[in-house]
Formats: sequence, C-alpha cells, structure tokens
Amino acid sequence: QSVEDTLLTTIRTIPDYPKPGILFRDITTLLGNARAFRRAVDELVHPYAGSKIDKIAGIEARGFILGGAIAHQLSAGFVPIRKKGKLPHDTVRVAYSLEYGVDEMEMHRDAVSPGEKVILVDDLIATGGTAEGAVKLLRQMGADIVAACFVIDLPDLGGRKKLEALDVDVRTLVA
Ligand code: IMP
Repeated sequence: QSVEDTLLTTIRTIPDYPKPGILFRDITTLLGNARAFRRAVDELVHPYAGSKIDKIAGIEARGFILGGAIAHQLSAGFVPIRKKGKLPHDTVRVAYSLEYGVDEMEMHRDAVSPGEKVILVDDLIATGGTAEGAVKLLRQMGADIVAACFVIDLPDLGGRKKLEALDVDVRTLVA
C-alpha cells in the first residue's frame, strides 16, 4: 500500500462538524494506527534527514503531536505555538484570520534565536491563515523557515499558495 493510501484510509471524515456543511478531517484515527502514524512522520521528515534543523515549531494542538515526533526524528528542539494566554513567559503575539473573524497566537520570545533553522508543523492546511500567523511570529524572532509541513492539504482553500507567496516551502502528504 502506498503512503498516500495508508494515510487516506486512516483519516476519518466527519460531516457537519463543527458546523453544518463542513467536512472535518479527523486525524485521531491516523494517530491511533501505529503504522500510519509512523509513515506520516517518516514521510514528512525524509527530505530533511541529514540537514541541520534547529527547531520544530508545532501549532496547537495537533501540530504538537506530529511536531514532537518529527523533532525527535530530526534531533531538533520543539517550540509550541499556542492560542493566546497559554504560555507562561514573555511572548510575541500575532493576530491571524480564521474563516469567520480573527484570533491571536503566541510564542515565547526566547523560543527561537535569529538564524535558527525551523520547520513549521500542523496537521492540516486550509486557508493558510493559521500557518501564516505562525510564519510571522517565527520570522519576527529571526527564524529561517526551512519548510512548513502538513499531513493534509485542502487545496481549494488556497493555503499552500498563500505560504508560497511568503516564500515558504510547503510539504503536504495527502489532499
Ligand atoms: P487554516 O488557518 O484555514 O489553514 O486552517 C488550518 C487550521 O485549522 C489548522 O490548525 C487545522 O488543525 C485546523 N483545521 C481546519 N480544518 C480542519 C479539519 O477539517 N480537520 C482538522 N483540522 C482542521
């Protein structure tokens, strides 16, 4: 079975969640399948194996799960990017756009040093608003963003193009 098939068959789609008309991609079933979880992580990291990556930045909350595994695989540190008010020390904060409205996310000010090579990770990219916010935070602290990695791309929503327009390399596994 190809990696893509393994991943596609283990991702569950939930109609009308969290709102009517939305098809929610649920990766808890992928994470619960040992083979699929390992393949997703292996596949996301393989272009970077052997390169020096300083940090993996994971977006709350599913980006933490994938990002932790990826950080271990690449012998990199892990940096959490969180919804506002959750991090205990000095933070940088950015507003980002959601489908309806805006929210804010934060990262610790001392989490990344200028010039560090960072890979951004989340489970899914849709409009790209969330990832764009994370890119701004990381660049504000001087990070060199090597790539942004996602298991799932929803290409019709334009997130990949939005990140590429910011000069970010995007890696996704299934659409
Ligand atoms: P974006 O900002 O529109 O690209 O939305 C991406 C963010 O929303 C990511 O943090 C995803 O985890 C979350 N998200 C949006 N749609 C889904 C979905 O269908 N399944 C899981 N997460 C989703």
